[in-house]
Amino acid sequence: MSASDPKQGFATRAIHLGYDPHDYHGALIPPVFMTSTFAFQDIAQGQRRFLGEEAGYIYSRVGNPTVSVLEARLASLEGGEAALATASGMGAITSALWTLLQAGDVIVADQTLYGCTYAFFQHGLARLGVETRFADLTDPSRLDGLLDERVRVVFFESPANPNMRLIDIAAVSERARRRGVLTVVDNTYCTPYLQRPLELGADLVVHSATKYLGGHGDLIAGAVVGAKERIEAMRFFGVKEMTGASISAMDAFLVLRGLKTLELRMERHSASAQAIARMLEAHPAVARVHYPGLDSHPQAALARRQMRLPGGMIALELMGGYDAGVRFMDALRLVTRAVSLGDCETLAQHPASMTHSTYTPEERQRHGIAEGLVRLSIGLETVDDLLADLDQALGGVPPA
Ligand SMILES: *Cc1c(COP(=O)(O)O)cnc(C)c1O
Repeated sequence: MSASDPKQGFATRAIHLGYDPHDYHGALIPPVFMTSTFAFQDIAQGQRRFLGEEAGYIYSRVGNPTVSVLEARLASLEGGEAALATASGMGAITSALWTLLQAGDVIVADQTLYGCTYAFFQHGLARLGVETRFADLTDPSRLDGLLDERVRVVFFESPANPNMRLIDIAAVSERARRRGVLTVVDNTYCTPYLQRPLELGADLVVHSATKYLGGHGDLIAGAVVGAKERIEAMRFFGVKEMTGASISAMDAFLVLRGLKTLELRMERHSASAQAIARMLEAHPAVARVHYPGLDSHPQAALARRQMRLPGGMIALELMGGYDAGVRFMDALRLVTRAVSLGDCETLAQHPASMTHSTYTPEERQRHGIAEGLVRLSIGLETVDDLLADLDQALGGVPPA
């Protein structure tokens, strides 16, 4: 039972949808159902549940009441029919794709992907006979030459890390749909408050709820959202039998808590990032700033069309290359040196010395990772404090 109306505003649904306190002794907050299994009244009920003739819970790998509230909320916020919450973003991506694909199938993916997604496509799926064709999907017409009868899925992120390039979700989805191919969008960077790929024509959205949805750096979780039949296939095949990547009730509870402030947080992340991007762009130690809210972004018009706000992620390139990147990172005092994103704390990572340090400089260049590139996830601290810390850290970096 739900006290809320699906036509209510984003924040109202993020706070109320899918839960009525009067179903649970008036408890304001959804209880955390810490139970692995669920008792049947009699054998006939157990049978009906297994046959899918009666709604209800069986075992928490497949469904749990706390998790169901989260799934109802995520489905509504993304504008989808149903959602499946998972143990991690990678759990969402692997559970979704193992369900959609079999040996001999092909995925077309954008060339710029989250590192583990790239590894899963390039190594994990390849080992089981699924081929991935990587392409630069910022030009949607590139798809046409790649879609043949073996292609089942087009997969991309927008904005894509590290250079914050955007992909035109409506244009790519339309081209894929015409060929009977499903479009899957990783919407982690935007969240449904900034961008709703399903409304633009995509078939499935995947998330790392570890990031903005949870929003507090205290959990690992993920989700898939889309048509009910497909989501249920992912639940009963992808998660139940293939990956086992189900979310715990406690983590579902924490994501629910995060979702309540998602709108407020995304507004603040974006406003602060916009101010910081402008400061960085004007700074002599900075060669380039990649941020969809700047007029200098090559796809600023697309950003305005498909994103409500430009979001909290910024990439900057320092004039002095690798050494400047290291000096800048080490000079930060308030901003935290860490991977991940979407937290209250502002985080900085330098791919050349951190996530991509195992690459040779030539490999980094091939993947578009400049030696002086730094990625910032702008948090919710007082923006003047962030501006001051970034400015003092830039003061110590060697010029070009
Ligand atoms: C972090 C991240 C993932 C993986 O999510 P986990 O929750 O860490 O498993 C996938 N895609 C993007 C864009 C991410 O940032």
